[in-house]
Amino acid sequence: MKTQSKEIDKQIDHLKIVLKENGIKLTHQRVEVFREIAQTKDHPDAEKVFQRLRKKLPMISLDTVYRTLWLLKDLGLIGTIGFSRESTRFDGNLDRHHHFVCAKCGMTRDFYSDKLNNLILPESVAEFGTVQTANIEVKGICKECESKLN
Ligand SMILES: [Zn+2]
Ligand SMILES: [Zn+2]
Repeated sequence: MKTQSKEIDKQIDHLKIVLKENGIKLTHQRVEVFREIAQTKDHPDAEKVFQRLRKKLPMISLDTVYRTLWLLKDLGLIGTIGFSRESTRFDGNLDRHHHFVCAKCGMTRDFYSDKLNNLILPESVAEFGTVQTANIEVKGICKECESKLN
């Protein structure tokens, strides 16, 4: 389930340009944090990214991972899902998409739908504020959890 490496190289070239444009130093750690998000489909949180990178980069700290993820997010290079800053999960897919979330294990996958992109929201939503985007989150039980139930 990994994104093709050629595609990742292209994304990393883009990362380099954006960092340069914003006067931010390109460090090996920043590239590796970005690569981790770009190549995975499972929308990891900062802790999970840290655990994975530690094998490759023993010097990296959770704090660095955390700050780098939010830097990438602020630069528009990655997306986020989740409500609070603590439980935020990071998303390498910047195309408009929606999520299937397993209620048991939290597995999260992307899906696409033009119909859902053009969803008409009730006017009452405007009472809370200005809508920026609307993403559908479908909750269910993933195939793996389902097979364990049987
Ligand atoms: Zn599951
Ligand atoms: Zn996603």
